[in-house]
Amino acid sequence: MKKEDIITLPAPQLREKSSKVHVVTDATRTLIHDMVSAALDWEDSRPHEISAALAAIQIDRPEKVIIVRADFDDKGSREFTALVNPVIVKYEGVIEEDYEGCLSVSDVYGKVPRNSKIRIKALDQDGNEVRFKAEGFLARVIQHEVDHTNGIVFIDHIRDKEDAFYNLDEKGDLQPVDYDDIKNSDILW
Ligand SMILES: [Zn+2]
Repeated sequence: MKKEDIITLPAPQLREKSSKVHVVTDATRTLIHDMVSAALDWEDSRPHEISAALAAIQIDRPEKVIIVRADFDDKGSREFTALVNPVIVKYEGVIEEDYEGCLSVSDVYGKVPRNSKIRIKALDQDGNEVRFKAEGFLARVIQHEVDHTNGIVFIDHIRDKEDAFYNLDEKGDLQPVDYDDIKNSDILW
């Protein structure tokens, strides 16, 4: 799949809940493969950004499947871990604010509050149950993706925050944007 297969706001599907996967099959693994190829094709078109993760709804497949980059710091490592039916079973740590972007929200970044630690339950791509703890950036990314499976986009958490929105300039630096443009956008809401 290509970056053009990634849907972006205002696509209404992005605000709808995805369905649970009943049985993990070859079709699920094909979906995962398609998500990885779309995420990497998007990244290859963007000099300053990394595809940290993707949810199936972002390629217009309303199933609870997410992929998360195995190594966020190394663009050369193109491996992802797939999680099927991911659920955050416990929110822990403290609330921290940090920048987030989304392949489905073109050019808008935001400072989003998230829990610093979480516990996750999911199935792997062979259908085996996995449980693990995550913290820091990984915890943030998983919260962002599990939100996608529930029809929530990161900007929905900060809609009323005047100073939470940014965009990326041509050098790859984040710059604050005019909140009126965000608030009155026909694309974002
Ligand atoms: Zn996203």
